[in-house]
Amino acid sequence: MAPVTLEEVQTSLRRVSGTDVTLTALRGRATRWSDNARQAATYWSGRVLLAGDAAHVHSPFGGQGLNLGVGDAMNLGWKLGAVVAGWVPEGLLDTYDAERRPLGAWVLDWTRAQIRVMRGDAKSAALREVVADLLSTWAGTTHAVKKISGVTQRIGLPGDHPLVGRFVPDLWLRDGSRLVDHGHGGGFLLLDRTPDGAFAHLAAAWAGRVSSVTDDHATPTGMLVRPDGVVAWASDTADTADIAGLEAALHRWAGAPSSSPELEPVG
Ligand SMILES: Cc1cc2nc3c(=O)[nH]c(=O)nc-3n(C[C@H](O)[C@H](O)[C@H](O)COP(=O)(O)OP(=O)(O)OC[C@H]3O[C@@H](n4cnc5c(N)ncnc54)[C@H](O)[C@@H]3O)c2cc1C
Repeated sequence: MAPVTLEEVQTSLRRVSGTDVTLTALRGRATRWSDNARQAATYWSGRVLLAGDAAHVHSPFGGQGLNLGVGDAMNLGWKLGAVVAGWVPEGLLDTYDAERRPLGAWVLDWTRAQIRVMRGDAKSAALREVVADLLSTWAGTTHAVKKISGVTQRIGLPGDHPLVGRFVPDLWLRDGSRLVDHGHGGGFLLLDRTPDGAFAHLAAAWAGRVSSVTDDHATPTGMLVRPDGVVAWASDTADTADIAGLEAALHRWAGAPSSSPELEPVG
């Protein structure tokens, strides 16, 4: 792409500001970008998987492009790893497009909205006033920051628990460690807070893919975290329906067990 020249920036400044500004020098780095917002119709076709700017481009307003691409990579990486390792459950790779494309579409719309309020016409100026007014409130700023940072992000995964589909919360355990401290292995993480270790006992059949962390009784009583940090299953009780729910989630996300749970000791 041709380098950005002083004349180009000056012409743009004059057009946008309506003043006869004269630039004498360009210092530092000058880059060119536009309000181009486009997204691939699918992130997976045949032997091609798209991630990052190859899947979605938009204006840099809000600074979300890099994070969006890293999020794609986190979501896709462990799923491709499951294919290579030979334990991929049926349909797992399809979830990449289903989970990430709606988030990409949302970011594109968010940046389109920011472009709209920054234009120089009277309607945009009026809209800018309204948005600025809302953002000057505590609730308005909190809402916008939560949306941009992704902390309110939720993927539509099977399961009724409010944690399912969200990034794992920063939980402190009774031994003084944080749940995330136990996730450095890169596999699935199961939090088990049942008195008899029932969830961990079940997950032992997925040893090598799922590591269990036990903790004193509290809610959630159990939580299965995917390698990308997304909660795949959670429960506030520990009855037979919860055991069945965990088993279904383990099969759905971590594939077939490598051994029979009955062979593992309880505790
Ligand atoms: C002005 C500006 C400001 C921005 N500010 C922010 C910000 O504050 N926060 C934020 O999160 N994001 C920001 N972004 C967006 C962010 O830079 C991009 O979303 C991010 O760099 C995309 O990363 P990527 O790896 O997907 O693609 P790229 O960074 O484009 O990387 C693709 C790489 O592939 C290489 N390549 C291309 N074709 C081939 C080929 N055939 N063979 C081999 N290699 C090839 C390219 O050379 C390039 O190195 C900004 C973007 C711009 C333009």
